[in-house]
Amino acid sequence: MGIEFQLNTEIGRDVTIDELLADYDAVFFGMGTYKAMVGDFAGEDLPGVHKALDYLIANVNEKMDYPRDPEEFIDLKDKTVVVLGGGDTAMDCVRTAVRQQADRVYCVYRRDEENMPGSRREVANAKEEGVQFLFNRQPVEVMDYFGEAIGVKVVETQLSEPGPDGRRRPEPVPGSEVVIEADAIIMAFGFQPDPADWFSEVGVTCNDWDAVIAPEHQAFKFQTANPKIFAGGDMVRGSDLVVTAIWEGRQAAEGILDYLEV
Ligand SMILES: Cc1cc2nc3c(=O)[nH]c(=O)nc-3n(C[C@H](O)[C@H](O)[C@H](O)COP(=O)(O)OP(=O)(O)OC[C@H]3O[C@@H](n4cnc5c(N)ncnc54)[C@H](O)[C@@H]3O)c2cc1C
Repeated sequence: MGIEFQLNTEIGRDVTIDELLADYDAVFFGMGTYKAMVGDFAGEDLPGVHKALDYLIANVNEKMDYPRDPEEFIDLKDKTVVVLGGGDTAMDCVRTAVRQQADRVYCVYRRDEENMPGSRREVANAKEEGVQFLFNRQPVEVMDYFGEAIGVKVVETQLSEPGPDGRRRPEPVPGSEVVIEADAIIMAFGFQPDPADWFSEVGVTCNDWDAVIAPEHQAFKFQTANPKIFAGGDMVRGSDLVVTAIWEGRQAAEGILDYLEV
């Protein structure tokens, strides 16, 4: 179709948005969500606590023999691993740990199985592979032993009335704390949009939770506040699925064609 791919190019570093806007009639942003959400509890930064994406990317680099820093690889062979979170990223982490021959793998999730965001099939597969699920438990602290993480303190939760997002909220049960001993703890609490500094310079606006505002239902679908710039996928909707990102990309393409009167 004549599309030219320009790889290893970061907008804002290798090329400026001003250059793109000068050279093209329309620009589409599909930059995803890469800011890891944190748990806001003590010990999150201790050695032995890893961010999900760091763990998964380093594993892929190692297995695929991509250029890498050997220090980045996190080998969980023979380790007791606790993965915090219950989405697809958490499922990727628990199943990767199993493949790395971890000794024991736990998945700690603050709601019950029915309210878990991860795919049912992945959860079933993880169970088959020996992952132990600890539902209705919320992390409150990573245990620190001379500056190293040695486990996670969790509190039991019970689900209360639905919050503004329609999902029942987990509430801690006082006095139910226990410590799960672990050699490694992986944080998989999801991702949120991370707007670039230069968005505001070109008039691209974001909502309260930093997602780019590019509505579907308007004259030109997925157009941002800058008429030449369109956006879609996770950076607009929040972390979601590949199929929705593809759909929004196609809808935005229609919006661009209408805008350009093609
Ligand atoms: C660990 C994990 C597991 C997942 N599992 C599933 C799953 O099983 N099924 C499913 O449907 N979805 C899954 N998802 C979600 C899915 O990956 C996303 O919903 C989808 O990729 C979003 O597509 P996107 O095009 O919006 O963004 P992305 O696919 O994230 O693509 C954004 C791209 O923009 C690039 N970028 C960012 N900033 C710049 C810049 N300044 N200049 C140039 N390039 C830039 C990024 O490097 C990236 O390549 C998973 C996500 C994660 C993190």
